[in-house]
Amino acid sequence: MKVLVTAKLPDEAVRKLILAGCDVDGHGEVRPMNREELLARVEGAEGLLCTITDRIDREVFDKAPGLRVAANYGVGFDHIDVAEAGRRGILVTNTPDVLTDATADLAFALILAVARRVVEGDRRTRSGQFRFWAPLHFLGTEVSGKTLGIVGFGRIGKAVARRARGFDMQVLYTARKPLEKREEERLGVRFAPLEELLAQSDFVSLHVPLTPQTRHLIGARELSLMKPSAFLINTARGPVVDEKALVETLRGGGIRGAGLDVYENEPELTPGLADLQNVVLLPHVGSATVETRTRMAEMAVENLLEGLAGRRPPHCLNWEEVKGKR
Ligand code: NAP
Repeated sequence: MKVLVTAKLPDEAVRKLILAGCDVDGHGEVRPMNREELLARVEGAEGLLCTITDRIDREVFDKAPGLRVAANYGVGFDHIDVAEAGRRGILVTNTPDVLTDATADLAFALILAVARRVVEGDRRTRSGQFRFWAPLHFLGTEVSGKTLGIVGFGRIGKAVARRARGFDMQVLYTARKPLEKREEERLGVRFAPLEELLAQSDFVSLHVPLTPQTRHLIGARELSLMKPSAFLINTARGPVVDEKALVETLRGGGIRGAGLDVYENEPELTPGLADLQNVVLLPHVGSATVETRTRMAEMAVENLLEGLAGRRPPHCLNWEEVKGKR
């Protein structure tokens, strides 16, 4: 039973696959597998353990007619053609929950970093420009007590809201369907349509998946609705934001700053973005803690092995559709 693992994973995860009888073709390097390597090595695979850097589409499925399970190492699955996999009877799985806290922590790290100019301050201090303390020197924006707008109120959005309570923030959220009033009260949040949320928030944090409906959800018009003193935080997916419009808005002072973990054409940055002082730019590390990446590997392996054994994987995106075809 050939299994292609497209990324270097913790040793323990690969060992588990081998102990379960899989013939593992593992990618031994930290850099992602490129397209040519993926297409060549997926041939003959029954199982695939892949990541966000692999585009899993018809071409991949055509190369591996025996493929039965595509186990994604991550929660977002916009890089996988789940509909096509379903038509071919291929199970697709992901790793929700285990990365929620790490990603919510990072969203909060970006909120604090942009508001208090943490990275800019570090740059100044290292370059010898910390020469004095003064009442009006290097002022940032207060986070405590401000309004946070959360766009996409799922697992990570709710985890960000929990953290905001510790900062006495008012939390607005937008979702396709508002929560029950009682649930809103329990969480200390209030529903607001996107336009109202954008206009009222001091920090707007994005937590929607990338879908045809959320691509460029935040464009020039939406950015123009934000307060000039507000910050945009994106730890969701780059294409949710029109990055060119964001650069123009930041240049023109339309909003005060942005904290980004993800980019529209990753790993490329839109020209001009890296020249701005009022942005903090991270290299897509939302889930990148030792603890979380270890749990993600365990979950992806469990999903893969359960699917290969013909059982319902714990986190399967298309079980109902595929189960009849197997
Ligand atoms: P989730 O629990 O599925 O939450 C997503 C929420 O967005 C759901 O409540 C969904 O509502 C809502 N939503 C979908 N389309 C919407 C729309 N058009 N307008 C408003 N709300 C909409 O997913 P999660 O675990 O929180 O993860 C969210 C995303 O974060 C992932 O898809 C992934 O892309 C990203 N992520 C990034 C990193 C990183 O490294 N930076 C790490 C982990 C995750 P419904 O219930 O109505 O669908």
